[in-house]
Amino acid sequence: MAGQVKIAGIEISHHRLPLDPPFNASWDTQPRRSFDATIVRVHTDAGLTGIASGDAMLGFAGHEHLFVGQDALAIERHWRILDNIQFHWGRPWPLDLALWDLAGKITGQPVWRLLGGRNGTVKAYASSGTLRAPAELADAAERYLGLGFPALKIRFHRGDWRADIAALEAVRARVGAKLDLMVDCNQGWRMSWDAYGSWSLKDALQVGRELERLGVYWMEEPLHRGDREGMRRLRDALDVRIAGGEMTRELYEFRDLVAEGCLDVIQPDAALVGGITGLRRVAAMAEAHNLVFTPHTWTNGIGVLANAHLVAGVAEVPFLEFPFDPPEWSLERRDFAMAEPLRVDGRGEIALGEAPGLGFALAEDLLARTRVG
Ligand SMILES: [Mg+2]
Repeated sequence: MAGQVKIAGIEISHHRLPLDPPFNASWDTQPRRSFDATIVRVHTDAGLTGIASGDAMLGFAGHEHLFVGQDALAIERHWRILDNIQFHWGRPWPLDLALWDLAGKITGQPVWRLLGGRNGTVKAYASSGTLRAPAELADAAERYLGLGFPALKIRFHRGDWRADIAALEAVRARVGAKLDLMVDCNQGWRMSWDAYGSWSLKDALQVGRELERLGVYWMEEPLHRGDREGMRRLRDALDVRIAGGEMTRELYEFRDLVAEGCLDVIQPDAALVGGITGLRRVAAMAEAHNLVFTPHTWTNGIGVLANAHLVAGVAEVPFLEFPFDPPEWSLERRDFAMAEPLRVDGRGEIALGEAPGLGFALAEDLLARTRVG
């Protein structure tokens, strides 16, 4: 397409899918009776529309004029404006993802090719979200194995970490070395309504030694996100990889986490922090320090897809998070905003293909029926 394509308008809509029965997420003390999605559409004077989803875009309304009339492909310029907005207001990063979708549609290329084109497929790990009894969790692990996943992340939030270890032991006994296992301790942040604290370094050390005994691939968020000294000491004391950063909000905080030697695995989420444009910087930082960069993706399928394009474009990852814990967290629930859910193939891989942009279509009918704003 010749000539400059200009942004003509930005449209934001909010949608709420009722969840009956509710989803009891392990990291949330309240049952989830609905699931929200915010859809961002960037319209152009050429008739093309970039689309994405992720954070709720709180505080973005009133800033549209900072983008309208601008060259749609001036993504680094737009990123700096978004970074200013996220400082003063909420997290507007889905707009960066929508601009990448648009850039792909303008150029006729999938986003992963525009970013660097490393590999059009990404290995996925199954990321569970519930707390199951040990035998049931072991059954679930066998099902994930049957679906081709190379790895499974389980949750530690049963109140007593010894009960969590028992669940992990049951899984390891069932699947042996056929699945890599990760443990999410979820100590980095809390929901708005939760007043209880995070583990201490000594708590994390005790748990981490058990995880080493059970051959766990990484220990995620063992401490509060701001306890960089604790993370560094834990990482020095243990061989198990230490992972974190899923809700760390500023990119300079990743610089400090890396410079101080706090983490082995860096996990920002492009739909929540920094967008694709910001996180490609973090991916390069991680590679320069021989660390693993593999994003958190617990938003919806559009967010998973955006992070998949990012790593497929620029990074070498062992596997990317694929939130999936049926029946409570099914693909139909997670991806209700999409015309087709994002799936993995029989080898546990996400195939991104050659469709321009992020390569998905919206479920317009369901979005119309679930619109709340
Ligand atoms: Mg996590």
